[in-house]
Amino acid sequence: MTLATPALGLQLRSCPASLGQGEMAVVEVQAKGKVTGGFAGEPLFFFPYAPDLYRALIGVDLEAEPGPRGLQVAEGERVLRATVMVKRRPFGLQRLNLPPEMVELRGEALRRVRREKALIRRALLGTKPQPLWRRPFLLPLRGRITGAFGLQRLINGRFRSRHTGLDIAAPEGTPVVATNDGVVVLASSLYLEGNTVIMDHGLGLYSFYLHLKEFFVKRGQRIQRGKVLGLVGVSGRASGPHLHWGVVLRGKRVDPLSLLEALGEQGWKRGLSRRP
Ligand SMILES: [Zn+2]
Repeated sequence: MTLATPALGLQLRSCPASLGQGEMAVVEVQAKGKVTGGFAGEPLFFFPYAPDLYRALIGVDLEAEPGPRGLQVAEGERVLRATVMVKRRPFGLQRLNLPPEMVELRGEALRRVRREKALIRRALLGTKPQPLWRRPFLLPLRGRITGAFGLQRLINGRFRSRHTGLDIAAPEGTPVVATNDGVVVLASSLYLEGNTVIMDHGLGLYSFYLHLKEFFVKRGQRIQRGKVLGLVGVSGRASGPHLHWGVVLRGKRVDPLSLLEALGEQGWKRGLSRRP
């Protein structure tokens, strides 16, 4: 962290020196009045956290180019600057064998998948301009990590998309809870994603819950942290019962574990085991 313009009053209390690809973090400033700022050429949205303390979330996409990104924070005429280094992360490789009709999409299946991608993009517009949560974020279920975030995927012998979420395996029918308070912006049955719920937590922070056996919420519904959204299943393109949990921060695909590292409920790590 380099501070070019130290000033009285306005203080950068917490800012990461570096972020890995697909990671997010909290920036915290002390200020008396309205704080504005930017990160990597985009505006930052500060929200009050405690008296004279404001927070904003920053994140970089899974495929962000490594290198320095500028961060600025301003209160009136006073401006502070810092640099956050984006670092390459060593993402692993995952080999998967799936039914060919779920991989080689043609005809009606291809048209359906395209329509559904557009549906998801539309669901991510119109976020609430303030955080809808006040408490720490929860792990949506306890289980075993069977697919890390960011994996390069070799499906039926060919390189395909990156893995943009975290796969947590658990028995079919295990309840999946909302990671925090928010509004349901999509609750639909999709071809690849299966039964899917997407929640807006405000400030462009969204959580995704895929491959559910069934879901119990509907679009537009405001729900609280810990509410059961649905049950673990194998719907869509899935090779066994698991939750694919995804997190998007203002269009950046970020690792759900980095959300928990930044803002998670204490003890969340105890809910996860790794593949033996
Ligand atoms: Zn997944």
